Amino acid sequence: MSLSPFWINDKPIPVQKKVNSPVAEICKTGNRQIRPNFNETEIYSRSPDAPECHFQSDITLDAIQYLRTYYGVPFSLTSTFRTISHNNSVGGASSSKHLTGDALDGQPMQNRNLVLAHFRNEILTQGPVFQKLFEIGIRGFGIYNTFLHLDSRTNGGSKSYNGQTYALWDKSSYLANFDFGNYDPSNAVAASIQTESSPSFTDYVLGIPAEIGNATEQIFSGNDEDGYTAYSNNIKNPENSMLVFWLRILVTILISIAIIIVIQKLIKRGRK
Ligand SMILES: [Zn+2]
Repeated sequence: MSLSPFWINDKPIPVQKKVNSPVAEICKTGNRQIRPNFNETEIYSRSPDAPECHFQSDITLDAIQYLRTYYGVPFSLTSTFRTISHNNSVGGASSSKHLTGDALDGQPMQNRNLVLAHFRNEILTQGPVFQKLFEIGIRGFGIYNTFLHLDSRTNGGSKSYNGQTYALWDKSSYLANFDFGNYDPSNAVAASIQTESSPSFTDYVLGIPAEIGNATEQIFSGNDEDGYTAYSNNIKNPENSMLVFWLRILVTILISIAIIIVIQKLIKRGRK
């Protein structure tokens, strides 16, 4: 089943999208190579209840392909289009650009700290990488410890460049202190300094403090801010998280104890 192009979850996508941000249709069973390094499966929504097909802003895809080429490392798209129910379940901002397929989160799969620290510096200083992304049409930049957020919003933000506004939030308390030295993405030798093949639980935990606390680390906060949501989508299967696993066991034990106490009281009452 393919949904009508300009409706997602029975809610119309704002009309201006059609003008400002042409969208690629991404389908669950599709196998097209949408960009040189990103196929349809990689881009397809991580929402459990995602429709058979959804839309993803071409601007965001051009942007992540640019970063992929520039840094020469694979990027995992940890969150693209997000359904309303999924967004709600992870405590997402109601205005999240993920809801309309205008945003994506990407995680470098190699040299992650180096790439993100370099990216962070480029964005904060409006360096060449920032300028290129801006030229592509990115107007929302989110910097996290373990991934980055890009979106093609059209309603600006608190920052400005070349007379145009954009949104920026930096939740990378860890990266802020990460010295990327003379790291040059075009230098393959330097790039081999640090290699991380895949995100790990440790990385996931590391990302949390900057996102749920430490407000002073935030350069941007306000309506455009993507909320405390992205880390929840930073792993494809949150169920695999050991933290969630142990919390579930703890809750199960507590509920069991409560039930036993209630049963014991009922039995005592019955004897009286
Ligand atoms: Zn995001």
